[in-house]
Parts: sequence; C-alpha cells; structure tokens
Amino acid sequence: MLRPEKPALGGLAPESLEALLAPLPPFRSRQILTWIYRRVSSFDEMTNLPKALRSDLAARFILYSSAVSACFEDPDGTAKLQITLWDGARIEAVLLSDGGGRKTACLSTQAGCPAGCVFCKTGLLGFRRDLDSAEIVEQFLHLRSKEAEIANIVIMGMGEPLLNLEEVRRALLVFTSPDGLALSPRRITLSTCGIAEGIRELADKGPPVRLALSLTTADEALRERLMPLALTNPLATLKDTLAYYQQRTGRRLTLEAVLLGGINTRPEDADALAAFAGGLEAAVNLIPWNPVDGLSFEGRPLQEPGRRELRTFTAALEKRGLNVTQRFRKGRSIAGACGQLGVVHTERFVPRCPVNSR
Ligand code: SF4
Repeated sequence: MLRPEKPALGGLAPESLEALLAPLPPFRSRQILTWIYRRVSSFDEMTNLPKALRSDLAARFILYSSAVSACFEDPDGTAKLQITLWDGARIEAVLLSDGGGRKTACLSTQAGCPAGCVFCKTGLLGFRRDLDSAEIVEQFLHLRSKEAEIANIVIMGMGEPLLNLEEVRRALLVFTSPDGLALSPRRITLSTCGIAEGIRELADKGPPVRLALSLTTADEALRERLMPLALTNPLATLKDTLAYYQQRTGRRLTLEAVLLGGINTRPEDADALAAFAGGLEAAVNLIPWNPVDGLSFEGRPLQEPGRRELRTFTAALEKRGLNVTQRFRKGRSIAGACGQLGVVHTERFVPRCPVNSR
C-alpha cells in the first residue's frame, strides 16, 4: 500500500505543522492544532476558521494517517483500541483507569517487536516496522476521543521503544512541548527491555521522562534465556547505564519483573534482584504474568505465578529492603494487559464500544 497522497496533520510537531501550513500565519496553525488535540474528525468542525480555509485544508491534507479499526472494553474500565496504519499494519493502544478516575494511555512504538521476549505476545508476532513519531502521537489523540483528560502516558505497548529511539524522542517532544500537548515529562514513563546504548542516548538528549527497566530477573543466565536482547546488554552494563540515567535526570527508576510461575520467583531471584537494585534509587514493580496462548519456555507452557508464590516472593524482596509494588491486572478480558498486546483477530473479542474512526 502506498502512503496517502495528502499529508496528515494529526501527529506533527507544532513547528512542523507551522512550516507545512506556511504562509498561513502562526496563530492559524495554533488554532488548527487546538482542534486536532480535541481529536476532531473533519476540518469542517474547526469552526473558528473561515469556511474557505477549511475547504482548502481538506483539499490539501488529511487529519490523521491512522484510523481506529476496533475498540474493546473490559468491565474493569480498560479500553483497547486497534489502530490500522496507512500501510495496513495494525497496532494497539490501551487506556487504563486507576480506579480513582485517573487515566493513563499505553502507547505502541513498533508494529510487532523484534526483541522476542518469550513471555510476551507481541514478541511472538515478530517485527513488521517502526512507527513514525506522528503514528505514536496519533494513538494518544485516538485515545483522547474516548477520554479527554489523560493524566499519564506509558510507552509500554507493542515494540521496544529504544530500538526506534529517534521517532520515539520526536513523539516525546510533542507530548512535552509547551506548544504541543504540554505534559510534564514526569507524567511519562518509558519502559525498555534494556538497551544500554539507547538509555544513555535518552539520558543525554532527553526529554527526561521516567524510565522503567523490564528486568524480569537479575539472574543473568536465566535472563538471557528469557530475553534474547540480554545477550548483548549485560546486567553490569545496564546497571551502570541506569545509574547514569538517574544522575542525569534525577528520576527515580522502576525495575519491572514479569513473574513467571515456577521460573523467576526462586529465593536466588530475590537475592539477585536485591543485589542489582543496590545503589540505585529504584522501586520494584511486580507484574504477575498475564496468560497468552501459545507461549512456552524451553518446551514448557508458561504459567501464572500462584498466589502463595507471589506472596512469598514479594515478602522475600521486602525482607531484602526493596520497595515493592504489584501491578494491577487490568484489561485481561480484552487481551489488553501487560504482555498481551498482539492485535487480536478472533471473534472471541467482540468490539463493545463505538468505533470512532476518521
Ligand atoms: S516485552 Fe516489550 S521488548 Fe519484549 S517482546 Fe514484548 S514488546 Fe518487545
């Protein structure tokens, strides 16, 4: 499929939009941006623009390069959008609710993922392509059509963001720029499976978002078997890089551990995790594995950790002085929970909310 003939305005950085619309005066470009951030569906809805300008814009541009192709809602308040990109690739973005009414957008950075973590549905799909910054920003705008007030962004959807760092940084600049969506970098968390070079580059170039390392285990040999990218990013290097990120940004880190029943919840995993966290200002976020059909580790189907196993492992970490939280299991009925994103094609998942496509 070819790129659309007309350029899309939706996810552009404010300065790129202004340049594209020249010689329109900058105040017009700001008006247009305000409408886009309200996620209008047509230029005709931009009622403070002269009619002739609206027609001219519609003749030269399209609003968004991607469209929502399905929307799924979990009774726990989670909503998942399936989004089709201009070339037919499909990705997913999730709107999470914390129970107190605060909403968080979980965004994807790649269609599929080349990292191949054994516990993740996206890894099972393989890799199709990187998203450009506009496609990342548009996910946020599509989620906004469901919920205008989104307090936080987590870059934890499909893909490894640091393998697509240039476009991810561009999108982060749109999210944080005072002329863009003006979100504080503190409200944005980027999660990586651990690419040392990318962490260092993000530390140097910013913006200084919060960083979460998907550690899973600090047993190096086990980690290499669970997460192939660990083979080229040894734990000692990663730890140095995390310390560098912390020193440059002043941000507290999160160490995430997806807990796989009977695999990474042993006392030695607690010891290794505590040793890795030593010297870093970091909280540990435990994520009991969310089931995905077809995922296995060395010939054995993966399993959720049992309740007792979870309690024992949490207590073991706390005993070693770690600050431990457990991630809520949200969106499991719509395959929208952590590690489950993978563009569902089965009828098992019937769209439950109106599709708001352009
Ligand atoms: S956990 Fe993240 S990095 Fe690993 S395969 Fe899944 S999407 Fe890719």
